[in-house]
Amino acid sequence: MGMVLANAKVYTCADDVTSADAVVVEDGAITFVGDLHSWENAAGLPVYDLGGRTVVPGLIDSHTHPSMVAQSFWHVRLPWTTDVDEILDFIRDYAQAHPRDEAPFLYFEYYPSATFADNPPTKDLLDTAVSDRPCLCQDFSEHEHWVNSKMLELMEVTRDTPDPVPGLEMFVRDETGEPTGLLRELVHLHFIDTLYEKIGWTPPHELTPERVGRFFRFMTEHGVTALFEALVADDEILQAIAELDRRGNLNMYYEGALRFRNVDDLPGVIALLKSHRAEYASKHVNVNTLKLFLDGTNEIGNSAVLAPMCNHASADHRGDIGMETAELTRCFLLCNTEGVDVHIHVVGDRSFRTACDAVEAARTEIAATGDVWRIQVTLAHCELVDPADMHRPAELGIIVNWTTHWSGAYFGEAAKKHLGDERWDRMYRFNEIAESGALLTFSSDVVTSYELHRSNPLFGMQVAATRVDPEYPLSPSVYPGSARPETDARLSRELLLAGYTINGAKQLRLADKIGSLEVGKVANLCVLSADLFEVEPRAIGEIKFDAVIFEGRVVAGSL
Ligand SMILES: [Zn+2]
Repeated sequence: MGMVLANAKVYTCADDVTSADAVVVEDGAITFVGDLHSWENAAGLPVYDLGGRTVVPGLIDSHTHPSMVAQSFWHVRLPWTTDVDEILDFIRDYAQAHPRDEAPFLYFEYYPSATFADNPPTKDLLDTAVSDRPCLCQDFSEHEHWVNSKMLELMEVTRDTPDPVPGLEMFVRDETGEPTGLLRELVHLHFIDTLYEKIGWTPPHELTPERVGRFFRFMTEHGVTALFEALVADDEILQAIAELDRRGNLNMYYEGALRFRNVDDLPGVIALLKSHRAEYASKHVNVNTLKLFLDGTNEIGNSAVLAPMCNHASADHRGDIGMETAELTRCFLLCNTEGVDVHIHVVGDRSFRTACDAVEAARTEIAATGDVWRIQVTLAHCELVDPADMHRPAELGIIVNWTTHWSGAYFGEAAKKHLGDERWDRMYRFNEIAESGALLTFSSDVVTSYELHRSNPLFGMQVAATRVDPEYPLSPSVYPGSARPETDARLSRELLLAGYTINGAKQLRLADKIGSLEVGKVANLCVLSADLFEVEPRAIGEIKFDAVIFEGRVVAGSL
């Protein structure tokens, strides 16, 4: 059992092999990488002439959300337009093509937040497209929802219904108090069970192997052979993954993370993590990471920042932080004792500094006791980092994870009103962090099926290499070529490929097995239709995965 991939341009991502034209695979492992003339095919393995095509290691998505995507497959994607008639026509056609008994509740995502700027949408307007069943449309910011009359009726929401959280989670109302059909935040979730009961239907949220498998299938077809799930809500996903693995349909190394919120709930979460590990850990599956949200987002203005937010009611508002240095230090000490890695959502420059300070304090304290620092801390997002802190991940052994397809303008200019122009311009800078010697890993962080297509790592590489989002371009009249400032923050392909391969393997603690093409490693690799390093940066996303090989088997495409 094996194969020879010959006449290839091989990027090994290994330190000691710089160039190779062949990879030999036997029994699922790599047994040779180099110049084929120096190797003899004694076993008579089949030889595939790749005609000069590119081979890279199997790719690694170091922060994504299989569970959330699998639970959103029943949502329907709207065309991306601010033309209200086009949106309504789409909804009307969809409802006609999918009658009520087939689709008892229609959930559409997303309409651009700017669609109804001066003229908020109403239930009557949506009724013109569908009125025989409940219908909800979510705006792109996910903070507003537009529903029809049937939905309000089935939720039993009337002018007499009080708002659950006035000012925040609420129904927009007309002058008589009648809900207009525009909802703020997830207010409908307070009433949705009534609706489900009345229509005798609930959304298909169970994480069945079929639904979860659809996510994994997409990843496999796009070269991903290992991934990190940044939030495991319960063990339903682990059961589904174990079942996929039993059926031979996983084709992926998987690491999952459980969430903790503070130092008090940490011991309980660690105990749960250990029990999940005992039950589900296998050759392909592990759960040995904890996830913490240290702050919010720049777009909503609740990230934790060093200098005050702009345009805030309080002049010295610096956002919100989940815990301060002392508590986070105690968390690291406990995780170090238990040998559990930590993955932290860090968006603003204050939470980045707090996380670095806490790692530094914990490492100092551990060194003083003669113990060793054995855990790995990964900071995800890191959208705004103070120049004075750029070198700290390297010094402290912190891995920095970045979601490459956000590098353009996926979130538009929404953060500007909170951060101001100067800080907005220096968001998403990772070259300084990498140049100081820290490991960068890359990811898709997709949370809904709407954006699943953006988790193609080559698409992410393209956006990070150009700072241009081909789907959501910035106005070219303001930003030349639609490129997000500063253009010197574009990432090199060397950095991108390393982050998607060997560095990702280090984050997942699998670098002894995967992440590079070296003798003795598992044969996970991708055959690409074009050379990643030779196409124009703006064409990287068009490269196809001709074949994806997992443990020596072709699991997508063909040779
Ligand atoms: Zn995430």
